[in-house]
Amino acid sequence: MPAEEVFIGLGSNIGDSSTIVEQAMVALGNISQCRLRASSSLYRSEAIGEIPQDDYINAVALLDTSLEPMDLLLEMQAIEHAYYRRRDREERWTPRTLDLDIILFGDRSIDDSHLVVPHPQFAQRLFVLEPMFEIDGDRFIPGYGSLSYLIANAPVISIEKLANSRD
Ligand code: AMP
Repeated sequence: MPAEEVFIGLGSNIGDSSTIVEQAMVALGNISQCRLRASSSLYRSEAIGEIPQDDYINAVALLDTSLEPMDLLLEMQAIEHAYYRRRDREERWTPRTLDLDIILFGDRSIDDSHLVVPHPQFAQRLFVLEPMFEIDGDRFIPGYGSLSYLIANAPVISIEKLANSRD
């Protein structure tokens, strides 16, 4: 089966978030039947929502995979759990040790109880769009438009690209 391109959003705002996100990036590339094709710089972004909390560290990974989407999601959840993220009694917009989201999976549209792809909020999240633009600036997303169009129309938040040890 041919590999498909998957964009994954990474975020953390508890602990040594930069290290956690960088380690998670490596862990994504080590999933069986996955190859890490590109990784964005780290970005610092302000937390969204009513609850005051620390800034997030965000990044985006581009993987090639021959896994099916649910199998990849399970592997991603195992990586999240390795960082002690608790899913029980968790609310949206609460602090996260590590959050991994499938943003795009090839050109698939998925809408089931465990997985919605494209990720329902990605077009409103500059902390996803900016790192995507960095690694694949020419990408056109059917049904949404170009990344530059989406960036120009997304709600404005404070976001800063951090110096990258790979630069
Ligand atoms: P969250 O609190 O945003 O991390 O949501 C976690 C839940 O969202 C998981 O139980 C997943 O089954 C579900 N989910 C739905 N769509 C996605 C997606 N595109 N990427 C990651 N998790 C998803």
